[in-house]
Amino acid sequence: MNVKLKFLGAAQTVTGSKHLLEVDDFRVLIDCGMFQGLKELRLRNWNPLPVPADSIDAVVITHAHIDHTGYLPRLYREGFRGTIYCTHPTKSLMEILLRDAGKLQEEEADFAEEKGYSKHAHPQPLYTVKDVERLLPLIESVDFNQTFHLTPNIGVTFQVAGHILGAAFVDITLKGERMTKNIIFSGDLGKYEDILSPPPTAPAHADYMVIESTYGNRTLPDTDTAQDLARIIRQTFHRGGCVVIPAFAVGRTQQLLLLLKQIIQENILPPFPVYVDSPMAIQATDLYRRHLAEFNPVAAATDFFEFKTLHYCPTQQASEQLYHIKKGAVIISASGMATGGRILHHFYHRLRNEQDTIVFAGYQSEGTRGRRILDGEKEIKLLGETIPVACHVEEIKGLSAHADKDDLLRWLRNLPTAPKKVFIVHGEKTSAFGFEQVIKDELQWNTAVPEYLEAFSLFEGM
Ligand SMILES: [Zn+2]
Ligand SMILES: [Zn+2]
Repeated sequence: MNVKLKFLGAAQTVTGSKHLLEVDDFRVLIDCGMFQGLKELRLRNWNPLPVPADSIDAVVITHAHIDHTGYLPRLYREGFRGTIYCTHPTKSLMEILLRDAGKLQEEEADFAEEKGYSKHAHPQPLYTVKDVERLLPLIESVDFNQTFHLTPNIGVTFQVAGHILGAAFVDITLKGERMTKNIIFSGDLGKYEDILSPPPTAPAHADYMVIESTYGNRTLPDTDTAQDLARIIRQTFHRGGCVVIPAFAVGRTQQLLLLLKQIIQENILPPFPVYVDSPMAIQATDLYRRHLAEFNPVAAATDFFEFKTLHYCPTQQASEQLYHIKKGAVIISASGMATGGRILHHFYHRLRNEQDTIVFAGYQSEGTRGRRILDGEKEIKLLGETIPVACHVEEIKGLSAHADKDDLLRWLRNLPTAPKKVFIVHGEKTSAFGFEQVIKDELQWNTAVPEYLEAFSLFEGM
């Protein structure tokens, strides 16, 4: 058996996770994410894959986030017809997220054509809602901790990664003629201490490890996030403004709801209206509610996702009414990095208001509007216009769904022996190389930070 691994994304960057594992002539992709953020990255979504899509036999998905799944409809369009494996909650979340991604692709192309701000006369979407609908039947969901086989010699097991609902790390066991070896793909790992997600399961053994490094060079501050958020809300209401929080529909929105309920329940602030303005976040919250007992039995004891002043805005009309609220409300909307969705319209109405506050509650990739506002840019291009940024801009840091440097190291230390090599992916350069140094200093293990499209031979004649 010969085994090769090629990195088609998330190499020295966070997005576009796509790891091609070739076991003799069987090809499996671990994750199939879209590139997001900087234009030079987004353009890669249009590059042909280094292998034909119809030569890929299967896809294994760690979790539903678009940077791990958003290329799937394009893969379908290019001819992929194999099976896509994931956990049950991931399948439900993917249906929501990919349908939305298809819609966003179409809307963006239409919008660019209408406003004429594309170089192309007829800008094309990367894929359409139709592609998504055709792709979805290829998804097959399986249980956590139950090994299934892609071929008699390739076994796959999903184990709890924390992070978001359904998130798994993937243990792939390869049975060669002379020996059996395994490779672990971490996917995105959650924190050991989190209000919403459970801690990641300890990996038992890895001959090779592919690990994320989003926060590989940072220790996240151990702050009291509820108090931080309460302070920002109090100050904003005092100025006569509203708080707008761009939040990922999956995971972040639910964490925020837990916090806001806590702030009101513990009388840190008197009750105030909270609006969840994202159809996707509403659907995702519903899934969390349904799966919370298995996901996190501790959190499931209370219904965090209901309180008196909490309002869900499923319709466009309900969304537009929020533009007219002058003060005293908290609005949570998506997308989390302000790359699309209803949040753009809230930004359009709020960025120019001195009394309002935009609160970033999650990771903002390089090149996104979110990152540019957070970096202090005074003007932002939005919906084809240039908008001055006059509002207050704040960041709360304790809410990441990602393991930080200490968590990643703690997770790796579970391994009883050093992997032959640890591949460090899913981090911007400073994080990935920073984490490489941490592993070298603390564990003295063999590491590599792969480049985009770099390939490695893992086993030969095994
Ligand atoms: Zn993720
Ligand atoms: Zn990710």
